[in-house]
Amino acid sequence: MTISEKPFIIPIFIPHAGCPHRCAFCNQNTITGTPAQIPSADTLRTQVETFLSYKKPDRRPVEIAFYGGNFLGLPPDQIREILKQASYFIEQGRACGIRFSTRPDTVTTDTLDILKDFPISAVEIGAQSMNDEVLSLSLRGHSAWDTQKAVELLHRRGYVIGIQMMVGLPGDNDAKAVDTGRKIAALMPAFVRIYPAIVIRDSLLHQWYEMGKYAPLSLEHAVSVVKQLYLLFKEKKIAVIRMGLQASADLEPGVSIIAGPYHPAFGHWVLSEIFLDKAACIMVSADVSGKDICIRVHPKNVSKMGGICNRNMMVLKEQFRMTSLKIIPDDSLCCEEVNVHERRE
Ligand code: SF4
Repeated sequence: MTISEKPFIIPIFIPHAGCPHRCAFCNQNTITGTPAQIPSADTLRTQVETFLSYKKPDRRPVEIAFYGGNFLGLPPDQIREILKQASYFIEQGRACGIRFSTRPDTVTTDTLDILKDFPISAVEIGAQSMNDEVLSLSLRGHSAWDTQKAVELLHRRGYVIGIQMMVGLPGDNDAKAVDTGRKIAALMPAFVRIYPAIVIRDSLLHQWYEMGKYAPLSLEHAVSVVKQLYLLFKEKKIAVIRMGLQASADLEPGVSIIAGPYHPAFGHWVLSEIFLDKAACIMVSADVSGKDICIRVHPKNVSKMGGICNRNMMVLKEQFRMTSLKIIPDDSLCCEEVNVHERRE
């Protein structure tokens, strides 16, 4: 399967299961809205059946994913049991693979031996940063070297590898975040996820925030640094499959989210900024002032070109002083293309 085939993921949350301790930024019970327990065999089957009943009858491959914990940190028998339960759906032909997220320091020849007999479609490593100082200040309890070793082991065994990274952690800055991006890209994962650090209720970061020891990134700053990372990974042909936390009813600003750059459409915002940059770059060298201007983009990018609440249109109009500005969907354009011209009526 290629990454572009976008599987239908059935997420099973196992909050903090297998975690050696709490990392400073983390509170999976709040993020996932799930109590700290591993689902029983019956619960797991019910959860998977429920998700399968929602799935449209398309040909997207189904994968069962275990998130929110440190999968390979679980006792070996428990790992085998969970994988056995999930494999039942694969044997029935109703799912095609299992993926999970795990800490880099749990990827060893011993833990990978446990996986040998199961249909693992991807392993996601929570690297978070490739800067040892940032890792230490965030109380991760592992180093960048652990991530490098884990990815090498996984490559050697032929696994599809995903890497998760964060921006705005304690001690982090833009240069360190971009350096982390470069080091992760050099490890050649198949895909990455980028999360801005958020102050989650009852995390250690929450305490530090209240004590004035930690200040999160602003939303604009987080969008700007994640945009740089997205472009870096894109250039290296590494798929960025998520930017920002998945919006859910459990993630409510002021309730579970205390502070930080959370936006339910964070990834869309980042992509909108990229379209804004493209259009502005063309307009800088075109004579658009005082004219009626059209921007043509592929139909699937109309909302990205417009930006959140049509912000891009307002910014461009203000900056380039056009009489009018309109977006026109044009399916003759390729996906990334932005075409700017004067309106001909
Ligand atoms: S970040 Fe991962 S390892 Fe750390 S506490 Fe959260 S789930 Fe556990």
